[in-house]
Amino acid sequence: MTLTERMIEGARLNHFINGKRTAPRSGQYLQSFDPTTGQPWYEAADGDAADVDAAVQAAQAALVDPAWRRMTQSARGKLVRRLAELVARDADTLARIEMRDNGKLLREMQAQLGAMPDTYHYFAGMADKLQGETIPVNKLDMLNFTLREPLGVIGMITPWNSPLMLLTGTLAPCLAIGNTVVIKPSEHTSASTLALAELIQEAGFPDGVVNVVTGHGKTAGEALTRHPGIAKIVFTGSTATGRRIATNAAGNLVPCQMELGGKSPHVVFDDVDLDRAVNGVVAGVFAAGGQTCIAGSRCFVEARVYRDFIERLADRAKRVRIGHPADEATELGPLALAAQLEKVETYVSYGVADGAKIAAGGRRPQDEALVRGWYFEPTVLVDAKNEMRFMRDEIFGPVVGVMPFRDEDELIRLANDTHYGLAAGIWTQNIDRAMRFARNVDAGTVWINTYRSAAYMSPSGGFKESGYGKRGGFEVMREFSRLKNVVIDHSGATQDPFVIRLR
Ligand code: NAD
Repeated sequence: MTLTERMIEGARLNHFINGKRTAPRSGQYLQSFDPTTGQPWYEAADGDAADVDAAVQAAQAALVDPAWRRMTQSARGKLVRRLAELVARDADTLARIEMRDNGKLLREMQAQLGAMPDTYHYFAGMADKLQGETIPVNKLDMLNFTLREPLGVIGMITPWNSPLMLLTGTLAPCLAIGNTVVIKPSEHTSASTLALAELIQEAGFPDGVVNVVTGHGKTAGEALTRHPGIAKIVFTGSTATGRRIATNAAGNLVPCQMELGGKSPHVVFDDVDLDRAVNGVVAGVFAAGGQTCIAGSRCFVEARVYRDFIERLADRAKRVRIGHPADEATELGPLALAAQLEKVETYVSYGVADGAKIAAGGRRPQDEALVRGWYFEPTVLVDAKNEMRFMRDEIFGPVVGVMPFRDEDELIRLANDTHYGLAAGIWTQNIDRAMRFARNVDAGTVWINTYRSAAYMSPSGGFKESGYGKRGGFEVMREFSRLKNVVIDHSGATQDPFVIRLR
């Protein structure tokens, strides 16, 4: 156990508001559990509307405080770079905290944390590149130009599956642009965001620029999304919660960025190395226990190789090593929450009841060392149909439904027959066919001969009920800034005050 983990073990963690660790006004705390044992390991402040209001006020004050507002762009960029260095210094500790909180493999969390400093560096470079334009307007004695400004106080609500990675994609550009932030992490995984807040303070960000309020969605989360002092809500989580948040925010005419659920199609044609495709499908749905928004949970296989493929996939699924997430040999850790385990079991039973067949997995492992944790075997359900309940709803667990398809027309119809539109994958050697699929599938990201390959330079974000708005790349500069138009008349002339100047 690292020093920080020891400090968190059994501790009461407080909010981070205006640069200070702040106890909840209500005096209430919530319990966070270790998914490998089901036992509590720390408490976090159970925030409510009063705590959220204090955090938003601190962020509003920081927004106009000269210490932040009048900081030069380059100085802001340097601060973000300093944060990158501190995250690099503490990456292993942060990875271990997240593993302990959500049960994901240590090597997966180390990979996520390892890439995070680069993400901060990338967006730090944007701090001094946010620029407007001069616009020719047919008025020769006038100067018409635009300014890009920070948007204001951004409310960020994150889920438990990859708390810091999902936060970083929006926090880094928001800070580089000069916004201030109130973060509400998932009640199941508060610790890593609070640990990051300490680094933000160490980096030297002025007080109030970043605030963290922990607590439940229905109290702290709701209060944040209803607060009139927020300029934009960035939400990553389930579609049902996203719908509710967008409704709350609409009450204050506050825009949102929505990163929601998925039920992504993963396609295998008969012209590929089947073992490589099996490996891709495994990466798509069993990595991270399937607890990723982009899980390729609906697998479509060309009919000619269907039987061969499902045999190989089931064989690989049966050989997946289930164990403690800190163990180097482990390939599948526990699910993050007891409720998640129950949900997975329920949907597997729906699949069977609806006529799919279990080719691998389908139950909790019976191994003595695992029975106390929230483990579930990697599960392959074959002869699935798109209309089965487990093929329609997001399960967020290690469960894949596999079905054959005959031709490209049928494939596109099946792939797009979903409420979601987050990601899609295809394995084929035929580039024409791959491009036809990429153009016709309703998905924000399409992977060809790869899956679950992400980059902070590329815009990601879903269509349909998977949400709206993009994170990553230059798109975020538009997402988190506002555009102001300024007009100067340098003619010296006096105009007719009763006529609008259209020409
Ligand atoms: P969730 O919707 O239950 O909770 C997400 C966050 O919203 C938590 O912080 C929670 O406290 C908060 N919340 C809950 N109810 C709220 C309310 N009424 N008002 C305001 N906040 C509220 O999701 P989860 O179970 O934590 O995460 C899993 C979901 O997240 C999956 O659906 C997954 O697909 C999605 N996800 C999407 C992406 C993406 O980038 N598209 C990434 C990761 C996870």
